[in-house]
Amino acid sequence: MDSIPRRSARYHFDYGRQSRLASQPGGAAIRFGRSVEIAVIDFHTHSAASDGALSARDLIDRAAREGVRCMAITDHDTIAGYLSVCQSVPSGLELISGVELSCQWGRAGIHIVGLGFDPAASVMTRHLESLDKARRERAEKIADKLDRSGMPGALEGAMAVAEGAQIGRPHFARWMVLAGHVESEEMAFKRFLGRGKSGDISMLWPALDDTVATITAAGGLAVLAHPLDYKMTATRLRALTDAFRDAGGVALEVINGRPRPGDTDTLWRLVRERDLRVSVGSDFHRDSPYGAGLGVEIAQIPEGMGVWEQL
Ligand code: AMP
Ligand code: MN
Ligand code: MN
Ligand code: MN
Repeated sequence: MDSIPRRSARYHFDYGRQSRLASQPGGAAIRFGRSVEIAVIDFHTHSAASDGALSARDLIDRAAREGVRCMAITDHDTIAGYLSVCQSVPSGLELISGVELSCQWGRAGIHIVGLGFDPAASVMTRHLESLDKARRERAEKIADKLDRSGMPGALEGAMAVAEGAQIGRPHFARWMVLAGHVESEEMAFKRFLGRGKSGDISMLWPALDDTVATITAAGGLAVLAHPLDYKMTATRLRALTDAFRDAGGVALEVINGRPRPGDTDTLWRLVRERDLRVSVGSDFHRDSPYGAGLGVEIAQIPEGMGVWEQL
């Protein structure tokens, strides 16, 4: 890709958008009075093929309407959503291939975003098949745990919620609400499905280095998704970043959804220290007062730093 097409847009001063600007010394938006030349991209989004609310079609149509110029659908461990729309993308939008792969680094579950790979590469299709299997096995184990906690029928329930999507914990959480076991999906995670709880089945994903190698072998670029979500110490996060880079990873996701103040600075430091690139994404799943809307403005990211410049 030569460059991201730019649009002339009114500057959005609402808090949500402002907070997602990648403020960085040296990066400058080009201002014309109150208007600004802004490129809007999104390399982390979910469709109903995994745990997003919108069909892949509705997702890309909406992104195009809202001024996103280049995006990836990065469903958890599936490219079915991407494949369903990649032949008919709205004009003005560039859709690149994408996926968010679950993997394991030691005991930690890590997410790696793959961008711009050949979706037909056999190394990728084999990897996705093994993840399908791992997710089905995990779903059975989660259902067993919930059964033991007095919630029978979870597998059938979650599969009905998923409607053929790549099954994940959010489908169990939704079912638990519908079946009256918990008041909210948030509570389902807090009590049963979240990190360290009984339904958080660990140690079943492929290794991080195999995952990064798969993306690279398929001609794509590997991005370490939401590095601060793993709640690691600074030392451990550096070790993770090194393992990721040694395996062939190229970028850290410095903006994911709505970063908290300071998060972006921390990640920029790590990017510079380890000579990596940056990626950005909303991690959009659905309209929500907490999550970000589609699109991230990248005018303030210095040239030469964006992973999109390598696609
Ligand atoms: P899985 O891919 O099956 O491991 O499920 C992980 C997904 O669950 C994440 O991508 C989020 O979309 C969602 N999730 C994680 N934690 C929470 C939470 N505390 N509340 C609601 N959804 C969550
Ligand atoms: Mn998700
Ligand atoms: Mn993730
Ligand atoms: Mn995600």
